[in-house]
Amino acid sequence: MATLNSLKQALKQTALTESLFSKKPLSDAQYSAGFGILAKGSAYQDFIAPQLSQLITNLLTSRTHISVLEIGPGSQTVLRHLPIRLRQKIKRYTAFEPINLFATSLEEWFRSTSSLPSLEGPPDIHQVPFTLNSNMGIYGAERFDLVLFCHSMYGMKPDHQFIEKALGVLVERPEGGIVVVFHRGGVLKFDGLMCHATASFPTGVVSVADDDEVLDCFAQFTAGFTINDTAIRVAWRGVCRTLGNRDEADPSRLWFSAPEIMVAFNRHATMLPELAALMPAGRDADMVKNRQARLHQTASTLKPTNIPQIQQCVRWALAHGASLTVLGGGHSGHCLWPNIIAVDMSAFDNVHVLTAGEDGDLDPIVIAEAGCNTGDIIRQAMTAGLTVPLGARPSVGAGLWLQGGIGHLARLHGLACDAIVGAVVVGVESGAAFCVGRVPRQHWPAGATRPENESELLWAIKGAGTNFGIVVSVTFRAFVAPTYSTRDWVIPLNDKTEARSRLGQFDELVAKKLPRNCSADAYLFWDAGQLRLGVTMFESSTTGTMINTPASTTAAEVEAVLGPAGSSATVDGVGLFESEMYMSEMHGGHGGGKTSAFKRCMFLKNIGEAAMAHELISALETRPSPFCYLHLLHGGGAVGDVVADATAFGCRDWEFACVITGVWPRDQDGAGAAQAAIRWVYAVAADLSPLCCGAYGADLGPDPRDLPFASRAFGPNRSRLARLKHNFDPQNVLAYACPLPRAAEEQRSGRVIVVVTGESCAGKDYCAATWVSLFTEQHLTARAVSISDTTKREYAVATGADLDRLLGDRAYKEQHRPALTAFFQEQVKRRPRLPEEHFLHVVNSATDVDVLFITGMRDEAPVATFSHLLPDSRLLEVRIEAGEAMRQTRRGCRGVDDTADLNGNSGNTGSSNAAGSDHRPSFIFQNDTTGTGAAKCFAGKHLLPFFHEELKQLAKMVSSAPDFPRPGIEFRHVLNIAQQPGGLALCASLLRAHFTGEWAKIDAVVCCEAGGYVFASALALVVNVPLVLIREGGKLPPPIVAVVKSPSHISSSGLSSGSGEKSIEMGRDMIPRGSSVVVVDDVLATGRTLCAMLQLLGEAGVKAEDVSVMAVAEFPVHRGRELLRRRSFGKVNIQSLLVFGGV
Ligand SMILES: Cc1cc2nc3c(=O)[nH]c(=O)nc-3n(C[C@H](O)[C@H](O)[C@H](O)COP(=O)(O)OP(=O)(O)OC[C@H]3O[C@@H](n4cnc5c(N)ncnc54)[C@H](O)[C@@H]3O)c2cc1C
Repeated sequence: MATLNSLKQALKQTALTESLFSKKPLSDAQYSAGFGILAKGSAYQDFIAPQLSQLITNLLTSRTHISVLEIGPGSQTVLRHLPIRLRQKIKRYTAFEPINLFATSLEEWFRSTSSLPSLEGPPDIHQVPFTLNSNMGIYGAERFDLVLFCHSMYGMKPDHQFIEKALGVLVERPEGGIVVVFHRGGVLKFDGLMCHATASFPTGVVSVADDDEVLDCFAQFTAGFTINDTAIRVAWRGVCRTLGNRDEADPSRLWFSAPEIMVAFNRHATMLPELAALMPAGRDADMVKNRQARLHQTASTLKPTNIPQIQQCVRWALAHGASLTVLGGGHSGHCLWPNIIAVDMSAFDNVHVLTAGEDGDLDPIVIAEAGCNTGDIIRQAMTAGLTVPLGARPSVGAGLWLQGGIGHLARLHGLACDAIVGAVVVGVESGAAFCVGRVPRQHWPAGATRPENESELLWAIKGAGTNFGIVVSVTFRAFVAPTYSTRDWVIPLNDKTEARSRLGQFDELVAKKLPRNCSADAYLFWDAGQLRLGVTMFESSTTGTMINTPASTTAAEVEAVLGPAGSSATVDGVGLFESEMYMSEMHGGHGGGKTSAFKRCMFLKNIGEAAMAHELISALETRPSPFCYLHLLHGGGAVGDVVADATAFGCRDWEFACVITGVWPRDQDGAGAAQAAIRWVYAVAADLSPLCCGAYGADLGPDPRDLPFASRAFGPNRSRLARLKHNFDPQNVLAYACPLPRAAEEQRSGRVIVVVTGESCAGKDYCAATWVSLFTEQHLTARAVSISDTTKREYAVATGADLDRLLGDRAYKEQHRPALTAFFQEQVKRRPRLPEEHFLHVVNSATDVDVLFITGMRDEAPVATFSHLLPDSRLLEVRIEAGEAMRQTRRGCRGVDDTADLNGNSGNTGSSNAAGSDHRPSFIFQNDTTGTGAAKCFAGKHLLPFFHEELKQLAKMVSSAPDFPRPGIEFRHVLNIAQQPGGLALCASLLRAHFTGEWAKIDAVVCCEAGGYVFASALALVVNVPLVLIREGGKLPPPIVAVVKSPSHISSSGLSSGSGEKSIEMGRDMIPRGSSVVVVDDVLATGRTLCAMLQLLGEAGVKAEDVSVMAVAEFPVHRGRELLRRRSFGKVNIQSLLVFGGV
């Protein structure tokens, strides 16, 4: 899709070559008509309004109202797109709008609407341009909290002087006023100015009707002038039609890409020279490897030469509300970012090799400073006969080992980050220098200390290390340097069927069979008009014995599958760099070295499986340029030996890292071909996403298209990383590194996921849709998804069935049901964790919602089974039930439900699912009436309360203590609620209100010491129900009932002095047989205490069905519900007021 900028250039070019007539400026009417077309683009709703809302919300933390100066608003202010809660905060509005027509309409618009309801006076609209001499108010003394240039800097040159002028009219008290620019396409040069925040919207589009008159209007507005010449008008229409994209669904419109940027400046924007004077300038942009990064004009690139200078950068950024990027090897697109200061680490380029025993420890280590690259480290280590498991290219820098590091030794020794045992870091919270882990004394910088949360910092550096500080050096564990033998195959593939079968053979018969010291990378690429599968086998050996030689048995087996190898070599660690197939064999060695590339990497398993192979092969068919390819790096082995939460790098369970590589000719950098290749990479990554088991964070940056992949980059470590980012980088100094789930995670921590279950035709999809609309009306984001769609997709690929009909045509779906079920069951046999994978895929694809409704899921006891996978979210099951007659009626209606699940349960039986089940859903909704009323009423009563303010208030009363009782654990002090003013009363009232049963039918509130006593007593008082106290063994006089209890979560985590088995007891006659009781506890974690209490109640004659449990806080990660179900307490109704991630 051509950008508006390239359209502009093409239009100008046409006018030059085809006309002798002179250009004329646009009249107001012409300008207004063109502006109207662009204003309908997606940017206002999807980018400008959310960004502006965020900025204004921040401004409002220091003031109650704001005044706004808007430059060139057009006929309506952009502020109209803001939510009313923010518009209400605007008390003064001033505008400079030079176009009379617009200024008059703007005045008229203000008269006819009350869009800014709190204005203290009429808007002050100046019908003149904003110039460097413009005076604001009487004697130029008027000041504003927000100055806004929205698409209005055209013609204001030099840009930076206009920004400086705008900075001059910001209020001085309270501080924090901002100047904000929204700009479409093109580059703005704010020479020497440093910005406070930036954002981009690369996916913005504008569409225009393919109609002569409309195109005339659009073309002259885009070109910026008009020419009274029919031939030019006709030629311009042709240019628009040639460059515009058409959508098959609506071919009557032309689409153009219209990327946007937002840049915000605060009053410190001009202070950069102060910092720049303290240290040398860094690398010129054209010395940076990544060619996308070269296009990003930084505010300044500085090159500290010692640690105090790095500290100066950090402290300066903290003092001035600035962000920093760090420039390591320069291979990412975001090491330089427009208008941001880059800290170039190239002065830190030493490598120190300490052989065994030198620092008093037995293992050899390599200390690499952060300005080194992979080649430097390998070469230096080899001089001592050592190596470090790094990546495949010598020029790649610290970003690799801080964020993972996948190389040919990964299967044997793990990732590069796994080899990190220590580091020197300048923290970005205060600029202090820290040593973490193993840093030999002689390498301790002066003044460095060990941070309090040292183990957390080291944990975070191993996989997410670009987000927590500026790393000065790392200590690697070193290994004996091996010799490598390599062999290559390039196999032409005649068609898709052959391609699939070859990939399958490679996976099953070669890759999966290799020992750990061998790895086999695959490449899918087109060359000379044919799809090819390239394979390179790498074998490392420290003894000289290789299997990768033509003579060995393994080599013969591999050749039986792949055919005779093309080339082979034996090399050392440095020679290995030249053995990469894309460097030597493919496309004449990377397009003859005159290409640029863009990559994103997804983690895959079973690449030979039909759906996966199909997706990989199909991806190449859509490649926008001939050199685009997929590189599959072999993983498994030692990578998966490390448990997912042992380091921040949380994606461990994969066999191949698929690097989707978009390549374009170098002279097209920044132009259409580059954009097309980048779009292709993102599209392929999105298509692979449902099949993949994670994404590689090392490539991801601030481009908003990276967010969905970043949300899958850290496996189960997301929330811990979000918390650590908040602790280690509270001001977001490193705002442009791999996006951690900071804001998104905060939202997710309150996310509610509702699994909607029930029999066929009970109305599951209908109810889910109704509830989505109810939540949307309440200004919450909600979505409903069917979990079986993923399987349908894979089934369609494997069998050639029509996916659209499978998704939407009920009869067709029924026809395929048996085969689809068999397909799913077969898949589960091969991939037992498939239900879990599908579940995670669905929830991870919806990180942006407050409430997600999942239908089509029939896994037994979904809450007990899956909640530990989403420890920050509240997982609920709502079972929909309806009488047979009602279900029969609904059976006739299309689109009521996806009739049956894929576990083979036909949807057509009438018997209740609930009866035979060994678990109890969170709620049951009896859906026996028509219309949405009852469903809305149910959700209003039972689901909406999870978003009520009181619950948030209660959550805030739970204080947390990091690293208590031992490092890595964040202790949540739930009992602290009782120590807060009003806390106990609030908690008791919420327990009463959230209880799904009837208090009138409850005979006792039961609790165990100590936390349970506090909350249960308060509740018992409120609901006027007798209290029954369970005590530790030996504390009560007979007669008693007693059971043995294994240690609770608290005792086993080291919080209590006691450990081992204990008993609990209660008076034997405290609860009459057959009573209904509510058990109250402060925390539900492992469920062991609860199990013992339920057992005790059983001994006393209380049936599990007659027990409800109410916990104040639940920690799903400990799988308490699963334990209860295993111990036959699945039928117990369990509710928790609060849900917390972490341990
Ligand atoms: C040609 C090529 C080959 C590649 N090969 C491999 C491979 O074999 N294996 C593999 O795993 N990956 C590979 N990658 C991906 C690579 O790991 C990432 O692109 C990585 O981020 C590059 O790190 P860098 O230091 O070279 O780049 P940079 O762009 O300088 O840095 C990347 C990120 O790290 C941050 N950063 C850098 N230094 C520091 C520091 N000292 N402190 C804090 N943050 C810092 C930067 O701010 C940036 O966010 C390759 C990439 C390319 C382009």
